[in-house]
Amino acid sequence: MLNIVIFGAPGSGKGTQSDNLIKTYGLFHISTGDVLRDNIKRGTELGATAKAYMDKGQLIPDDLMISILADVLDANREAAAPGVIFDGFPRTIAQAEALDTMLAERGTAISTVVGLEVPEEELIERILLRGKLTGRSDDNMETVKSRLDVYHNQTAPLQEYYKAKGLYQAINGLGKIEEIFADIQKAVDKLR
Ligand code: AMP
Repeated sequence: MLNIVIFGAPGSGKGTQSDNLIKTYGLFHISTGDVLRDNIKRGTELGATAKAYMDKGQLIPDDLMISILADVLDANREAAAPGVIFDGFPRTIAQAEALDTMLAERGTAISTVVGLEVPEEELIERILLRGKLTGRSDDNMETVKSRLDVYHNQTAPLQEYYKAKGLYQAINGLGKIEEIFADIQKAVDKLR
């Protein structure tokens, strides 16, 4: 199995590059943000809980998020057989440890962590533009500020976590989408 964590701050291009990874490697994509947005759209109880956190730019509590991820993995065993792109998960050390355990229980492991590195001013510009183009409700100036704080305080420490395991590959996330993807492909193909 080829299990890729696509890692980076909000606006770093994780969703866009996940689409490229799916096309090239035929992997199963799990975006926890998309799972939550889908629940909000369908008006589920989980959606209502998630919305309160998302609107404030905060993270959904680890226990809840970890059980959602386990459910998605179990519900898609066949589709996930060639491997999974984890997009937006893990976002905390607790989630990363839970992911290691969950994958080990399923007889597999993370193959690599692709970290898209983009300067802060560019992230803000991209997020605000996406908000205008898509109407995504947490892509506004107030929420962006807390999402970036959350990233720095809770998510960025995962870079060290994965570097210590020899899994982290930094990718320059500035430039043309195709050029960034070419670098990602090199990082992934190294593993095969
Ligand atoms: P994203 O689409 O990945 O930028 O996620 C949008 C929002 O969903 C985040 O700002 C969080 O509120 C929530 N979210 C998504 N993934 C996670 C996660 N792994 N842990 C906690 N909250 C998450």
